[in-house]
Amino acid sequence: MRGISRLLVLSKRCVPLLLCCTLAAAQSDSSDKFELNDSHFHLTNYIQEGTDIHEFLKMMGTKVGRVALFGIPLQQEWSYQNSGDYAPTYYLQTDSPLYYYSFTDAYIAMAYRSLSKEEQARFEPMITGFNPTDMYAADHIRRVLQTFPGVFSGIGEFSIHKEFVSAKIAGETADLQNRALDRVLDFAAEVGLVVILHNDMDVPFPKQGAPPAYLEQMKALLKRHPNTTIIWAHTGVGRIVRPIKDHAANLAVILSDPALKNVYFDISWDEVAKYVVSSPEATKTTADLINRFPDRFLFGTDEVAPTSQQSYLKVFYQYEPLWKLLTPEASEKVRKGNFARLFDEARPKVRAWEAAHKTPSQTTSESGAHID
Ligand SMILES: [Zn+2]
Repeated sequence: MRGISRLLVLSKRCVPLLLCCTLAAAQSDSSDKFELNDSHFHLTNYIQEGTDIHEFLKMMGTKVGRVALFGIPLQQEWSYQNSGDYAPTYYLQTDSPLYYYSFTDAYIAMAYRSLSKEEQARFEPMITGFNPTDMYAADHIRRVLQTFPGVFSGIGEFSIHKEFVSAKIAGETADLQNRALDRVLDFAAEVGLVVILHNDMDVPFPKQGAPPAYLEQMKALLKRHPNTTIIWAHTGVGRIVRPIKDHAANLAVILSDPALKNVYFDISWDEVAKYVVSSPEATKTTADLINRFPDRFLFGTDEVAPTSQQSYLKVFYQYEPLWKLLTPEASEKVRKGNFARLFDEARPKVRAWEAAHKTPSQTTSESGAHID
């Protein structure tokens, strides 16, 4: 690895050649030389600013093979009434609301399209710019696929219950029992889109001994959509929504249920890593669970618009104690294999759906019948 990076520095002419080799490896199978795939990455932040995708490719370097790529569906409003000349960049920096910003999907699609075919093979772009309380949300997703065919592999990360955020969003508050969400998940199954869903398992300051507030509703939702591949982001943990003592046991119940075999978990976010490595006992409990269900967990960074490889991969290194306790098989699957399996399965399905659902304008421009 070190030899390769030195070569890259020595001669920019080597880049295309090296890139070809690394890309071929990225696409072949999970036995490639990259250390990880990232199933959870935000190219842009809460004000739709972020890292140039070509710069980001350099950060992935020879370490990260493939990345699930998305922006953030919510825009933080800069309200002059609220914060005056102070321009907030994060939702905790102002009391003004967040709103759904659908243009994020066009932005991500155009960033992806600015890459070469070989570079594109390293990304799985995701659609996020829809309001999950809107019965028309599924129609937005359909429109994005038809406007940018050949780009997207999934939807998300989008959020239903999320501490501090849900209540700040203008309009109706999202919930797990909304038929609009069912329409979205049904449509994802029809197309073959992978879903990354953020939903806190519990409320921020729960009553002692009470079961996690949203666990049963979430299970019911997942069971209503057995044909949708769903990755439950952060295993349902939040910044304040801590994993309660029985967290691993709750996950094991889901993972053992044949009616929930469509459900996966990502261990992204430094907050999640913090809990996992907080004590040798917590690390061992997590490792035991993953070793028992190695096909069901994915590594992700949850980084937002990083500026260097070091900051981008912070969470990966934070998990060092966990990696050491996983079997070689489980480690490989969580870092790379499960990502490759899920997205390699999704991509051709989505392309086939797009081919079968071309809009009249696409068909016309392809046949050349109407050019002026
Ligand atoms: Zn995220």
